[in-house]
Amino acid sequence: MDFNWTAQQQAFRETIRTVLAKHLPEDWEHVAHGPASKEQTAFAKQFCAALAEEGLLVPHWPKAWGGRDADPWEAFILAEEMWMAGEPRGGQYMNVNWIGPTLMLYGTDEQKEKHILPMARGETLWCQGFSEPESGSDLASLRTRANKHGDVYKINGQKIWTSYAGDADTCFCLARTSDGKNGISIFLIPMDTPGITVRDIPSIIGEGDIHEVFFDDVEVNQRWRLGEEGQAWEIVGRALSMERVGIPRFSLASKTLKDAIRLLKQANRFSAGVVEQAAKAHAACEAARWYSYQIIDQRAKNLTTGPEASVGRFSTVICERLVSEFVVEHVPEAISGVHPMLLAHHQRGIVAGIASGAAEIQLNIIATQFLELPREPR
Ligand SMILES: Cc1cc2nc3c(=O)[nH]c(=O)nc-3n(C[C@H](O)[C@H](O)[C@H](O)COP(=O)(O)OP(=O)(O)OC[C@H]3O[C@@H](n4cnc5c(N)ncnc54)[C@H](O)[C@@H]3O)c2cc1C
Repeated sequence: MDFNWTAQQQAFRETIRTVLAKHLPEDWEHVAHGPASKEQTAFAKQFCAALAEEGLLVPHWPKAWGGRDADPWEAFILAEEMWMAGEPRGGQYMNVNWIGPTLMLYGTDEQKEKHILPMARGETLWCQGFSEPESGSDLASLRTRANKHGDVYKINGQKIWTSYAGDADTCFCLARTSDGKNGISIFLIPMDTPGITVRDIPSIIGEGDIHEVFFDDVEVNQRWRLGEEGQAWEIVGRALSMERVGIPRFSLASKTLKDAIRLLKQANRFSAGVVEQAAKAHAACEAARWYSYQIIDQRAKNLTTGPEASVGRFSTVICERLVSEFVVEHVPEAISGVHPMLLAHHQRGIVAGIASGAAEIQLNIIATQFLELPREPR
């Protein structure tokens, strides 16, 4: 593959860096540490509004919805720069990557009018209500129930691990309207609806990140069901394929590795054995970068992306883990908060391969669909 950035793409990257320099506060490293802290989430709201003003929140969205139809490469360059800076958009990266685009594809006029432009202006924060106790990888087994009474669904059940639920305005929520995989529907539920209770789950990855969300007779008008009853499986499949390559975490891993190497060199601790481990982590970051670029190239050419997307995602998990291990082993002081950005990466590295779907599920897809290995007979 002959790959070079065009002059226009390089200029776009420079524009993003200039805007980041203008809007990130001097103590940004300390705010970024705690990726979902109250402080970070409050900053993200103001930052996303500023990005929207600069035309850099949703450039890849259609003009009608506040974008300028930028191509998939520009969307990815934007995401790379944001992640390299410690993802100052906070949870709003989900709106930009997949919630907004999914509403554009499947929403009613009323749903689009209510939700898409506020997202494009950086005003709203969503959470993703998929996982439940006992239903993570096996999402089809989820039990939260939506029973219809006239025009209204009554929702009862529990979600878990829901990121940003404590601050989110709306939940993109899956609930069962009938049995089986094709009995799951999507509801767009304001988080202040009576009957919703959110509980913080204290965790090593930082304050405010993950939650339990309880639904007790939560009433949702059928106007706020996305798509048809039972269409969730199709819609979520499409939405997650947008998310899977939309998060270039390798760029944060790569920057973290460079920062760690700089610190080790300054302290005369970058010795032969350390160099070898750094080289392995660097190679993993580069592999993840190129696998991801391959997917973006397919998208830019309007080609269908197959199991390669899982290869891209799994290679990103590997690079995050290798960089995290490198930091823990060679710059352990980072973990106590001496270097907040290294700690921020470490917190994200801990959950690499769990959050956004277990890595082993990607391996299953790679084994069966990419390598075409036979399934073991039962
Ligand atoms: C930080 C964080 C943020 C999250 N944010 C959200 C969120 O905002 N919204 C949301 O809905 N969810 C969220 N999640 C949940 C996340 O999507 C689930 O943790 C993930 O899908 C795995 O599900 P589980 O935890 O139930 O583990 P399980 O599915 O029970 O898996 C446990 C183990 O078994 C393995 N395993 C399971 N099935 C298979 C299989 N078929 N083949 C091989 N191995 C298998 C897994 O790989 C894993 O190692 C978040 C999780 C974390 C850690």
